[in-house]
Amino acid sequence: MNYCYECGTKLMQKELQNEGMIPYCPSCCRYRFPIFSTAVSMIVRNPDHTKILLIQQYGTKNNILVAGYINKGENAEAAVIREVREETGLKVKSLHFNKTEYFQRTNTLMLNYSCTVENESLEHLNTVEVDKAQWFTNEQARQNIMPNSLAERFLLNYLNQGD
Ligand SMILES: [Zn+2]
Repeated sequence: MNYCYECGTKLMQKELQNEGMIPYCPSCCRYRFPIFSTAVSMIVRNPDHTKILLIQQYGTKNNILVAGYINKGENAEAAVIREVREETGLKVKSLHFNKTEYFQRTNTLMLNYSCTVENESLEHLNTVEVDKAQWFTNEQARQNIMPNSLAERFLLNYLNQGD
């Protein structure tokens, strides 16, 4: 970010106490911290925690986690509940935060959660956004998640911690 996103003035570097040198707009007199998107990704679990839901999207056969961007003004937990409902038609009854990872390709900070849904019904699946959704046992999910993906790192980290 070289120019102020509010007024277009060229940014300078200015010392901010305890933070070091931060981009600063001398016209707005405001520090301009880096801008990136924020999204949630979800390890969706059935009520007795024996299965995990993986989905396929965008015409590929890769099994990935349910995910979506957080709206401005929305908290991450609300985004988890909303995205799971929008994409799968399932209702989240509990959720837990796991970990985060920055995804450079889309300049997005991904916040990974695990959540438990009320039932395994896929009859209200959003077939516009999701090509396919399938429940896997925890071990099958480990084998079938898209290799070398952020989704795989989140899932393996979660499964390896146990619960
Ligand atoms: Zn400015």
